[in-house]
Amino acid sequence: MSITQEQLKFDKEHIWHPYSSMINPPPMTPVVSANGTRLKLNDGRELIDGMSSWWSTIHGYNHPQLNQAATEQISKMSHVMFGGITHEPAIELAQKLVDLTPAGLEKVFIADSGSVSVEVAIKMALQYWQSQGLGNKHKLATLRGGYHGDTFGAMSVCDPVTGMHEIFTGVLPKHHFVPRPTSKFGESLAEGDIDALEAILMDEGSEIAALILEPIVQGAGGMYFYSAEYLKRARELCDQYDVLLIADEIATGFGRTGELFACDHAGITPDILCVGKALTGGYMTLAATLTTTKIAETISSGGAGCFMHGPTFMGNPLACAVANASLGIIQTGEWRTQVERISGELASGLAPARDLQSVADVRILGAIGVVERKEPVTLSEVQPMFIEEGIWVRPFGKLVYLMPPYISSSEDIEALTAGVLRVLKRLDKLLK
Ligand SMILES: *Cc1c(COP(=O)(O)O)cnc(C)c1O
Repeated sequence: MSITQEQLKFDKEHIWHPYSSMINPPPMTPVVSANGTRLKLNDGRELIDGMSSWWSTIHGYNHPQLNQAATEQISKMSHVMFGGITHEPAIELAQKLVDLTPAGLEKVFIADSGSVSVEVAIKMALQYWQSQGLGNKHKLATLRGGYHGDTFGAMSVCDPVTGMHEIFTGVLPKHHFVPRPTSKFGESLAEGDIDALEAILMDEGSEIAALILEPIVQGAGGMYFYSAEYLKRARELCDQYDVLLIADEIATGFGRTGELFACDHAGITPDILCVGKALTGGYMTLAATLTTTKIAETISSGGAGCFMHGPTFMGNPLACAVANASLGIIQTGEWRTQVERISGELASGLAPARDLQSVADVRILGAIGVVERKEPVTLSEVQPMFIEEGIWVRPFGKLVYLMPPYISSSEDIEALTAGVLRVLKRLDKLLK
């Protein structure tokens, strides 16, 4: 079955895509199926996936174990409400998450999407202080350059400029933004780098419920990798000034950065952790928010007597079953060798980009390879170039980046990096 011109016309006229216009809709690439690391297009061409469908399809598409988990679960029970009812897929998922995540995170809220898990994290932090009669601790602190999702609470802690929600600034609650760390990943903490954070926590800590950040890797806000020592100090300062630490590992979780969780680079446990994206191996939407026993019990001892959140599709059995299969693959530990190999191949493959006139920086961490240009790319101009190269790459702003599935072969990575280089060179020539 292929997609007809008529259907594509309907799409153009009626369907919102992420961050799209209804007056000037962006061109769409019709995909009919996907297998392993390949996306199959309407016209029969295949593209090598360099995006993992936004960090999520870590084990590749059409994976036999994930397919089997979905098929088995769907024939038992695709969904059942989670209020007053429990089921094995959710119990197994919570057990796996408690086992895999940094020690001390023992209470699991299964959420519908990354943004919802961030809303849940923020509400947990607020309720934690409220329960202790400290309702005035309701502000958040965060780093510039961050991205935490598209819903209102999440938007309010996205970078006001690069976080895509600048136009909503006037209606969002005002929180405290500190400059992103200048100390890069692998470097020690530069003198003074933590001062802005310390000053905010010291001066405003009595009104701050939590510091929320993406540990080590800032994703959609700029693809930036910062020092593990900064994260370690941030943890200490949160303890010192009685502020909770929320780690948003929706993008970084499950091995992407070379450690199972980005927090592991600094050996810290956050008070609240958000995971999503790769949780189901990219099969369907699911996320989770984990916290400590102390926080969960404090919330529950407050006036409300419970945590005030509970979406309709909470703990969806089908999504949980697929997540369990995906986490089962993670538990084999295979990801570590895959990510290490990909990391080396991305580093050598993208290194020549450093010599291009239009390139400002090339950086690699785990299975993430980033080329930062001096000027933004025009998506409508570059997208067809990548497709001509037989690769699926979707840059944003100045950033052309790769985060391929962990199952990518060396040949896949070679094709991705070579294709990116050729496109960058073409853009370099256009510049001259
Ligand atoms: C993608 C992302 C989110 C939002 O997740 P959705 O599933 O798109 O709602 C939040 N935080 C980070 C760090 C992300 O990368």
